[in-house]
Amino acid sequence: MKGTFPIDKLERIQTPFYYYDAELLRQTLRTITDEAQKHEGFCVHYAVKANANPRVLRIIREAGLGADCVSGGEIEASIRAGFPSSKIVYAGVGKADWEINLGLDNDIFCFNVESIPELEVINQLAQQKGKTARVAFRLNPNVGAHTHANITTGLAENKFGIDMRDMLRVIEEAKQMSHIKVVGLHFHIGSQILDMGDFEALCNRVNELQLELERHRISVEHINVGGGLGIDYQHPNRVPVPDFKSYFDTYAKKLKLRPGQTLHFELGRAVVGQCGTLLTRALYIKVGSVKQFCIVDAGFTDLIRPALYQAYHKIENLSSEEPNETYDVVGPICESTDVFAKQIDLNRCHRGDLLAIRSAGAYGEIMASGYNCRHLPQGYMSDEL
Ligand SMILES: *Cc1c(COP(=O)(O)O)cnc(C)c1O
Repeated sequence: MKGTFPIDKLERIQTPFYYYDAELLRQTLRTITDEAQKHEGFCVHYAVKANANPRVLRIIREAGLGADCVSGGEIEASIRAGFPSSKIVYAGVGKADWEINLGLDNDIFCFNVESIPELEVINQLAQQKGKTARVAFRLNPNVGAHTHANITTGLAENKFGIDMRDMLRVIEEAKQMSHIKVVGLHFHIGSQILDMGDFEALCNRVNELQLELERHRISVEHINVGGGLGIDYQHPNRVPVPDFKSYFDTYAKKLKLRPGQTLHFELGRAVVGQCGTLLTRALYIKVGSVKQFCIVDAGFTDLIRPALYQAYHKIENLSSEEPNETYDVVGPICESTDVFAKQIDLNRCHRGDLLAIRSAGAYGEIMASGYNCRHLPQGYMSDEL
């Protein structure tokens, strides 16, 4: 089964480009808000790093989500898209002074702090402005996620976060700082997680840490469990909307919130992954001695996930209903890793055929580069075509 696309409209656009299905994005957002609202105190933020296309951001903001940013540029993009600064959280291991100042000037909801030296700088900069910075500590829960090694972030060996054994010490230190208010704990264990057991393991860890805080009569206003819910890259047509019900229900059942506490989520991939498709045209069909190549006009400069993580994206030939043949689908860039898929079946390809590289809404357009002086791909929203 192939996805449904407005072929006539897409045919008129210069390839390669991203196409976003606004209806699917809105349906995904409705599912998120419906499922999250069933649980008291759940607040959902969108991880802007997954896709910062202004049209995508606007639809997400209209649905009422907050923004999770990892750079000053993302804070700027969120504000431009209309996210209220009271719903912006800012995380990242290496925050520059101008980025911290930007967050302070906009009175963002919270800085997710990853080290004591960073905390000291935030305190200083806040003091210069006569402001108090709200901070949450990003703790490394040492919980592994069953996902690709390059996208697990919650292990002791990763560069992210503060060792959980240092939790009390950093909170005590923060209390001595005049322009810091500790409001929360923050976690994020990785990405493309489909096993609810991984999120359960995080809940158990958070419960332990909260008990430890209580023994020292410390309470926090919020817990932020990050993002990481995965999408079905194999079956974008059968499973267009991720299982948000199981995701939120897992946290509701396993994580013991204290009275008045709010639980924050930072979902990226699960929000935008399935609504985006990279459209590309077959340039040449090259028949080699052992295989045949479909050489397309998109490359890893447009979508780097296959080259970077050996990620799988389903590919469909939208222009052909002829019998399947087996192809390696490759781009034009002068690197051997510029391959979208090896040995896959496609309806017989011809020069000029339009190919859809599916599930490319997250970490696609935003990771595009100008290597080889290639032009950046444009993104188009279905309801504006
Ligand atoms: C990347 C990231 C997210 C979003 O991850 P997804 O897997 O896209 O949901 C959330 N929080 C933090 C801190 C991140 O770095």
